[in-house]
Parts: sequence; structure tokens; C-alpha cells
Amino acid sequence: MFSEGNKEMHQLLGGKGAGLAEMTKLGLPVPKGFTITTAAYLAFEKNGNKIAQNLMQEIINTLSNMEKEVNKSFGNIKAPLLISVRSGAPVSMPGMMDTVLNIGLNDQTVEALGKLTNDERFAYDSYRRLLQMFGNVVYGIPEKKFERVLCDIKKIKNYNTDLSLTVDDLKMVIEKFKQIYLLERKRTFPQDPQEQLSAAINAVFLSWNNKRAKIYRKKNGISDKLGTAVNVQEMVFGNAGEFSGTGVIFSRSPSTGARGMYGEYLANAQGEDIVAGGRTPVALERLKRSMPKVYAKLAAMSNKLEQHYHDMQDIEFTIERGEIYLLQARAGKRTSAAAIKIAVDLVNEGIIEKEEGLLRVSPETLEQMLHPDFDQKELQKEVVLATGRPASPGAASGRVYFTAAAAKKAYEKGQEVILVRQNTAADDIEGMVVSEGLVTARGGMTSHAAVVARGLGIVAVVGVNELEIDEQKKIIRINQTVLREGEWLSADGTTGKLYVGKVRTVRATVNKEFSQFLRWAKTAAKVEIYANADTTTDLKAALNFGAEGIGLVRTEHMFFKAQRLHQLRALILAQNAKERDVPLQRLAEMQQEDFYKLYKVAKGKTVTIRLLDAPLHEFLPTTEPEIALIAAQNGRSKGYIQARIAELKETNPMMGHRGCRLAVSFPEIYEMQVEAIILAALKANAEGVRTVPHIMLPLVSLAQEMDWMRDLLDKKVNKLFEKNNVILNYKIGTMIETPRACLIADQIADKADFFSFGTNDLTQLTFGYSRDDIGAFVPEYLNKKILPDDPFQVLDTEGVGRLIKLAIAQGRKNNTALPIGVCGEVGGDPRATAFFERNNITYLSCSPYRVPLVLLRMAQEHL
Ligand code: ADP
Ligand code: MG
Ligand code: MG
Repeated sequence: MFSEGNKEMHQLLGGKGAGLAEMTKLGLPVPKGFTITTAAYLAFEKNGNKIAQNLMQEIINTLSNMEKEVNKSFGNIKAPLLISVRSGAPVSMPGMMDTVLNIGLNDQTVEALGKLTNDERFAYDSYRRLLQMFGNVVYGIPEKKFERVLCDIKKIKNYNTDLSLTVDDLKMVIEKFKQIYLLERKRTFPQDPQEQLSAAINAVFLSWNNKRAKIYRKKNGISDKLGTAVNVQEMVFGNAGEFSGTGVIFSRSPSTGARGMYGEYLANAQGEDIVAGGRTPVALERLKRSMPKVYAKLAAMSNKLEQHYHDMQDIEFTIERGEIYLLQARAGKRTSAAAIKIAVDLVNEGIIEKEEGLLRVSPETLEQMLHPDFDQKELQKEVVLATGRPASPGAASGRVYFTAAAAKKAYEKGQEVILVRQNTAADDIEGMVVSEGLVTARGGMTSHAAVVARGLGIVAVVGVNELEIDEQKKIIRINQTVLREGEWLSADGTTGKLYVGKVRTVRATVNKEFSQFLRWAKTAAKVEIYANADTTTDLKAALNFGAEGIGLVRTEHMFFKAQRLHQLRALILAQNAKERDVPLQRLAEMQQEDFYKLYKVAKGKTVTIRLLDAPLHEFLPTTEPEIALIAAQNGRSKGYIQARIAELKETNPMMGHRGCRLAVSFPEIYEMQVEAIILAALKANAEGVRTVPHIMLPLVSLAQEMDWMRDLLDKKVNKLFEKNNVILNYKIGTMIETPRACLIADQIADKADFFSFGTNDLTQLTFGYSRDDIGAFVPEYLNKKILPDDPFQVLDTEGVGRLIKLAIAQGRKNNTALPIGVCGEVGGDPRATAFFERNNITYLSCSPYRVPLVLLRMAQEHL
């Protein structure tokens, strides 16, 4: 019985059962009922998907206790008990499993119900609903067959909605439904309520393994082993006239997180009408106008539940003749923007602690929050095709497809997809997971499919009235516009507007709550977060997210612009130091400008600049016309250029002439870069931006390399100081990215001001796997489970990690304060971030848009 459970028991009772129990305990109006546990489900599964005799007996006993409590009984003509049989897994899976309503009705009790309530129409409406749901859920008869009967009769009689159906119409519909049973399954509808009950329980148990439930579990990492509970509950009726109805509310907006109750309502209807997405409900305001007292009560309940659970609630309710009943409450699924706003607001309202607030949002959510939006300027030029309901925010452009299967095929071909459907139905999950957006003609924002879209982070615009879909012809029509399958459509889930074609997007910006949240995360994290950034745009974004500075400027990226490439090529092609002079000077000027700009934006925060790392041949021309052009530009013969290219060609460039090895052959290049760095810093300093340049040397393996370069660069810097008659604090550190460097890190540390691990190269060299060639064999290793993960995706903490630990220990042997960072792209890998945190790393550096995610991860490591 619901009165016996509580909210802690969701593993056994399922989320829905535990919620119903908890609400009962709180004294909220919940129809009586009981829960068949997940343990019973597991027994059912073990028993070859059959309900064992003793379980059925127990259910019957509990039901008869319930009958006594409510003073009604199954099949009784004076006081017939009607019940619903509802699925409910330990983890909420909105709309993925089945539910049957109105069980207990048959040819006799339907008449009795009509007399008892003095409302024959209501009784027969409930009966036709039972036949429909039972037929679909228990016998697997396609929903369409029943829908067609309803459609036909409405057409013949010229009715607009189901509500116009009279008692006689409904009786006829019921007869037709019974024929469908015979035609489709050669079976009759069971008149015995007990038989209805056991068949429904059986079917709801089985729905744990239906296709959409499996897809949902896979997508959300939910175990297939949990099983579902089943709730048996007395019916209350939203379809009992104009003062009855059903709806879904959220205690705050699930799209934006805005405060205040938010929801949808459908008068004279049963719950399935709204959550299954077949009818478009109206905003809650309508309820406020028609039944203000009921509305106020509902708001009070919503508030009470939120205060009790300390979180935003998603509540299903039904009103029967002016009385409210609560049928479900759970923590509401929400968009990433709402997740952040709600967490911040709950902390500020004193409902939860700051630490709890930080734990409420997953790091991935922060990343999703930064998904692009339509460019507002572009949007003004576009014509709005139609406006639906903004069910899941964001910007999506894609090619339209009309079925989940077609969407999947298109996705597999690499296309971006907008799934366009008649109803907002949870069945479409298979298509939704591969789509950028979902657009539907009918259905509300509180339907299960809309809930799922928000959870998946895909855009959804639902209930677009003007939308006509012709699945056969594969076209849609919106007002005058026709779109064929595969044509582009853009959907704005924030405003509900649709546009033809593809609209340009821009990166989302940081709002007030987001920056507050990031500030809290930054305070909680022990490790500092830096960004890998080469441009002021990247740096600005990173600082905005709370980065402490730059952990890696890749200078080679700065050379890939036309003007610079030209100078660099001239440099590489030069035959002696004298010929290198002019291009070096030009490059120094350009790099100085780059660095100066970064320093100005960094405003004194650390900017770590790595000297040239890439193999020289990467910068040389490859095609005939390019070679001809370079030859002309440098006053050389084509033959000379070709010879030089051949000379620079390496068998294995990744392990060849790159990194600090370049500096040994061409010291002028590093000297030039250091000159640029120092002069830029001097300039920034002179303008009042206190700058301490951090110079980083790549690919060091030998203490002697470090010594040699340190000597070279210190001398160069000192010359610059003398010439300019100033001095400046500066640091020279090194990447630690070869196994040898890890092994002798103590010797390297003597000459290094800081270390920074390059995890890609270190992984490459530790395994001896060429990163560019792993496609040939790593998949097989993964298949055969010889490797647990791709080591370039998930840090190998065991092997590579052991080298890293050694290097940290050795590096700090004589200098316990040695700053040690990481500048590989490890932000996406939670195990790597945790590993570095445990091993006392000073900072982590990642791409700018990963900064929020890594910040939160590092904060959560401590909570
Ligand atoms: P789902 O998990 O798909 O939401 P539910 O078990 O919550 O399935 O049932 C769907 C809807 O059916 C509910 O939102 C509710 O409105 C309606 N419903 C379920 N049980 C009852 C009941 N005992 N009385 C009235 N309506 C019910
Ligand atoms: Mg529900
Ligand atoms: Mg490297």
C-alpha cells in the first residue's frame, strides 16, 4: 500500500511508487493504491516472463484490502472499483513504458458507472478508452486502428473533437473496437476484471523491454537489470465533464528555470491525452480563469512538494469534478540553462547549500549550455514560417525527415536532421537521438516526448498548428510553403519559430546565473584551470568562463596565415644564417604583435607560450602550382625547392625533426620567438600590464637539451634587457612528453621553472602507437577487450599514469614548489581529471569551451 512506503525506497518501489508513497505520507490527495515491487519483476523475468501463482495471489489479497478501504469492489455493480496499472522504474523514463487506465470496466460495470455518476457519456467514454489502451498495450494492436474509427465517426458527424461524441456514438465506437480485437487478434476483450488486471500487469512488466525503453536506457546509461515496479491505483476521472481535467505542472520552468509554477492543462480529458502528446493542451492560465480556487490549491501543493524535495518538481495531476488528485511527482527533467538557474536560485533562496547546488549540475550540462544559438542579426532577415510551442530551447538546422527510421538513415549518412512528426510521441525516441531538432504538429510542452527532448538537449518546437504532414508523399506544408524530405528547415526552440533553410548560428553567451555558478565552482576547485588558446577571441572566452590564464599557446598555429607562411617558407628555404635574417625579422614583428595582444587581454594573468613544435616540412608546399609560386616568390628554381622538400622529408615526422630539436639545428627560430615574447611583454609592462612571460620548450628528453636551450635563451633575453635597459621577470619551463623526460625529471627540473605534461605525445611514445595510425589496430584491440579504452581518449592511468607520477615526484624532489600543469586535451575525460587532482597537479589547461566543464569537475572532486 502507498501508505507503507517512502521516498527512499525508489529502488524497490520505482520512482513513481516511492513518490506516491511519499505524497500519501505528506497528506497530499493521492488516490489509494499499492506497488508491485521491482523484486517481483525480477522474479517474473526469472520465471520466463510469467507471473508466478503466489505473486498473483498476493496481488489479489492486497487488492481486496484496498477494496475494503475504498468501499468499492472489482466487478461490483453497485460500487465498481476501477483502477490503473502503471509502470514505474527506479530511474525515471518518461513515456518509455506502458500504463493502462480504467481497468474494471465491462459491459455491466459501464452501465453501473453511468447510473452511479449520473453521467452515461462519461462512463462510455471511459470504457472506449479502456478498450483502446488495453488493445494497444496488452494485445499490441496498433493505436492507428482505433484512431481511425474515431476519426471516421467524427468526420461523418462533422465533429471537431472527441468531446462531441454522444453516448450512442460511443456505444457504436465500442462495438467497432471489439470487432478490431477479433479481426486483429482473434480474441475478445476479457470481461472479467481480474483477468484484465493480470493481463495488464503482465504487459506493463513486459514493457520494461520494449524497444523505446531499451534505446532510452542505452542513451542515458541506465542498467537493463533494474526492472520496473508496477503501481495499481484507484482511478480518478479527468474526463467527467467541464469541471474535470488533467494536466502536468512544473514547480519552475523546465526550459528556462524561471521561478513560479508552469504547466499545461486539458479539460475533460484523461492523463494519457496530454502526456502521450496526441492532443495539444492549453497553458495553465486557462485553469486559473475557470477554477481559480483549484488553481491556488494546486500552486500550494506544487510549492509544498518543491520545499519537501528541495528540487524542481514535475507533477501529474487530475481534477475530478473540482477535486484535485496528484498522480505523480518527480524531480523534473530540465534543459541545461534551467538546471544552472534552478541550482543557483535554490542556493540563493536558502533551500539547498552551495555544495549541493554544485553537485546538482553535471559537468556535461555546462558544456551543453554553450551550444550555439541563431544569430539574431540573421534572424531578422528571415521570414518566420510558423510558430509553435518552444518545448526545448536552442537553435537547430537540419534536413527534414518524417519518420524515425528515415531520420536514422540520414544521420548514418552524416546528415543533420530535423525530425518532423504529427504527434509529440515518446515512440519517436529512436529518431530523436539522431536529430538536431524535433518539430510536431500536435502535442504540448509537458508531453513525455518534450520532456525527453529537453533531457537529450535537442531542440523541440511542438504543436505547430499550421503544419500538415503527408508521410506518403514525403512533404510538409506550412501555410503556402512546401518542403520535401531532405530540404533544410531551422527551428528555434527558444521562441518556437520555424524558418526555411539553414540559419547561421553563434556561440551562446554566459548569463548571470552561469557566471555565478562558475564562480562557486572556481572557489571550490583546488586545481587551477587554464585554457589552450592562440587568439584573443579564445582567450576572452576562456577568461569569461573563469580560466586563470593560458596554459598553452601553440605558436605554430600562428604561422598558418598567408603572409606568415610566406615568411616562414623563406626562412626554411634559406641556405645560411644570413639569408634567414630578413624573414626572421618579419616573423618576429608579427609574433610580437600577437603576443602583445594576448598580454593586453590577459591583464597580468599567465600566458604560457610554447616555442615552435611542428616538423618544418608541414609548412612547405605540396602541389605543383604552389611550388612554382614559392620558387618565384623566393627567387629560386623549382628544382631547388623540390630538392629542399625532399631533404626535409622524414619517414616518421612525429618522431623526427620537431620540438626543441629544431632549435638545436636552427637556434635563430627560438631566439626570434623569445625576442618577440620579451619585447611584447616589455611593451605591455610599459603600458602598466604587469606581465611575466612563461616560455615553454617542447619535446625535451635530455637534461643537456634543457641546459643548452636555457643557456641560449637566457643569453638572448639578457641581450634584449641590455639593449632596452630594462629587466623583467620571466620563466622558462618545459613540456614533459617523452618517457625519458619522465624518468630523469629531477635533472630537467634543475633548469626548468615549471613542467607541463603533454598527454598526447606522452601516450604516443609510451605505447609506441602513432596517433595517426591507430585506426588500423586499436578498434580490434577494443573489440577483443585487450585494451579497455582508446588511450588517446581516456588517459592510461596505469602505464602513462605511472610515468606521470614518477615525473611529478622526481620533478619536485629538489623543488617542492615546482608548478606542474597539464596541457593535453584531457578535459573530456573524467578519469584523467580525477587522476591529476589526486596527484597534486598545479593546473589543468584545456580548450576554452571546456573550461566550465573542467572547473565543475574539479570542484565536484572535493564535495
Ligand atoms: P507515464 O509513466 O507514461 O507517465 P503514468 O503511469 O504516469 O504513465 O500514467 C499516465 C497518465 O495516466 C498519468 O499522467 C495520469 O494522468 C493518468 N493516470 C494514471 N493513473 C491514474 C489514475 N489512477 N487515475 C487517473 N488518472 C491516472
Ligand atoms: Mg506519468
Ligand atoms: Mg606535444
